[in-house]
Amino acid sequence: MSNDRVVLVTGGNRGIGRAIAERFVADGYRVAVTARSGEGPEGTLTVRADVTDAAALDAAMTEVEQELGPVTIVVANAGITRDTLLLRMSDDDFDSVIATNLGGAFRVVKRASKGMIRARFGRIILISSVVGLYGSAGQVNYAASKSGLVGFARSLTRELGGRGITANVVAPGFIETDMTAELPADTQAEYKKNIPAGRFGDAAEVAGVVSWLASDDAAYISGAVIPVDGGLGMGH
Ligand code: NDP
Repeated sequence: MSNDRVVLVTGGNRGIGRAIAERFVADGYRVAVTARSGEGPEGTLTVRADVTDAAALDAAMTEVEQELGPVTIVVANAGITRDTLLLRMSDDDFDSVIATNLGGAFRVVKRASKGMIRARFGRIILISSVVGLYGSAGQVNYAASKSGLVGFARSLTRELGGRGITANVVAPGFIETDMTAELPADTQAEYKKNIPAGRFGDAAEVAGVVSWLASDDAAYISGAVIPVDGGLGMGH
């Protein structure tokens, strides 16, 4: 299958972002990833950018446009955690998580939106988390950044929905990546007890949903929050 559309995935060098980039390559798209370190998977163009740096992102996007063409599918995936209880959380713990997870999405979507408006087609897919709506002790910074993505996507839908552009949120539960490998074994076991599916998810299971949201089959879906969490967040 081939597809002329150009996809950009932030943080595509590892974890969920890498699996998303691999899936888009398999689907036949032209795929670029931003990475601060390392490289995207085979078949992708890797550009260097820190999502907290608007000038670096602008330069990276220009490179992608020159090499592959205008970006009409953006996946804002780059994210970090700085978990600790509220009373121990520093301003920097809070600000850096918001600047990366929410500010990073704002910067990349803003930069890509011009091309989408011109093309009268766009897919904006924001990688949130089950904890954005469920809440999580020790993650007030992270949960706030992830629920912020919901208001962001829904406002984008109202601003850009008439121009063939959709904006949706994907809310993964516990997915096996470097981010979750850092959690102590007893915390992981506690999480698993609460997941109706009885297992953690695989990054490819998130990638499949992202791929579908980017497809023509999902043209009439916008402002939605799609869980990929084995039932963990049901109703939230
Ligand atoms: P990883 O820690 O495995 O990967 C994070 C990715 O984000 C890396 O590519 C990293 O790049 C990139 N990144 C972080 N900060 C920046 C920055 N300032 N600028 C550019 N890139 C940056 O995480 P996951 O793959 O697990 O998570 C991916 C997304 O999915 C995140 O938004 C996360 O919040 C979300 N998520 C993950 C869940 C999970 O269970 N794993 C559950 C729910 C949501 P580098 O290699 O250079 O550090």
